[in-house]
Amino acid sequence: MQMRIPLSSPDVSEPEIEAVVSVLRGRTLSQGPKIVEFEKMISDFVGTQFAVAVNTGTSGLHLCIRALNLKSGDEVITSPFSFIASANVMLYERASPVFVDIDPVTLNIDPAKIEAAITDRTRALMIVHVFGRPAPMDEIKSIALKHGLKIIEDACEALGAETRGRMAGSIGEAGVFAFYPNKQITTGEGGAIVTDSEDIRDRVIQLRNHGRDPRSEWFEHVELGYNYRISDINCALGVEQLRRIDEILTLREGVATRYGEMLRDNSDLILPNMEFEGGRISWFVYVVLLKADFRRAQRDWVIEQLKAEGIGCGRYFAPIHLQPLYKRLFGYIEGDFPIAEDVADRAIALPFFNRLTETQQWEVCSRLTNVVRRARTEAA
Ligand SMILES: *Cc1c(COP(=O)(O)O)cnc(C)c1O
Repeated sequence: MQMRIPLSSPDVSEPEIEAVVSVLRGRTLSQGPKIVEFEKMISDFVGTQFAVAVNTGTSGLHLCIRALNLKSGDEVITSPFSFIASANVMLYERASPVFVDIDPVTLNIDPAKIEAAITDRTRALMIVHVFGRPAPMDEIKSIALKHGLKIIEDACEALGAETRGRMAGSIGEAGVFAFYPNKQITTGEGGAIVTDSEDIRDRVIQLRNHGRDPRSEWFEHVELGYNYRISDINCALGVEQLRRIDEILTLREGVATRYGEMLRDNSDLILPNMEFEGGRISWFVYVVLLKADFRRAQRDWVIEQLKAEGIGCGRYFAPIHLQPLYKRLFGYIEGDFPIAEDVADRAIALPFFNRLTETQQWEVCSRLTNVVRRARTEAA
């Protein structure tokens, strides 16, 4: 259903279209200079030595997990309140995702609960910066150091987020960004791995191209790899988008700030905190929570009503451990990660994109306020 005010909308400008067209007019549609240029821009922006572009964020996460050389049954700790790809990539390698519940305010993994989940099979932490708010990396790093664990950052929602002078994605062994159209910048489909480790860089370059040794002149496939390559067409779009990342982040911050002001007096809602001490949030989505006394059925009703009025909104995220696949594989049940479940039941993602206008936001907020008030009496 086409929404009058969509949940998300890409922001592709004329120079970006021209850059894509000029790749199409040339002869190198893939494996060419735009990939190299895009990678250089990403590593410069994030402040890492290397960036390796791939075809999706999920591929990037998979290659990072693969580069850790996990064995069957090895465990990787992550958050149940994320996009399913954060945990699926462990399953690709026959490793086990081990979930740790979240902090109800930041919605990121709760560092105080990590140590209790560490076993002698734990190898790594997959840290998601949920909705672009940096996870508490100082605490997480000291836990990782103490237990000899690697950190992979799922920064797919957090391009441009900063904490204590470092960019999200640049803090662990490797970090991953995604460029699907609802992300801060888009390449249509795409992703990138950033790292300071030459070993990880070499390995993921090899893995993204069928396991072919990049130093070999011939087709020497030294391990089982994939085709996770991205084209120059996609990267040309990425280069131009990244050129105006500052503008994009500022626009998104502006949209979030306006929502905060417009909804400030609504006592049925818990709004995301605009502040992030010692750093910067890179706004990916704007998710409000209904107050604790609302039930999931009421939240679902609110979303249905808003959609019927042409306002694109969504649930954002169903906890990973309660997805049918995870219930079947691991026997998870409701109540296993109560905070993630509770937050997931009361979350509503509002329309959020660079060019969302103030008028549109007023409409979203007045309809939301009205529908939420009615939900108390009218919803099942
Ligand atoms: C978008 C996203 C990904 C990867 O997305 P792709 O669609 O594969 O590019 C991974 N993790 C999180 C948290 C995401 O939001």
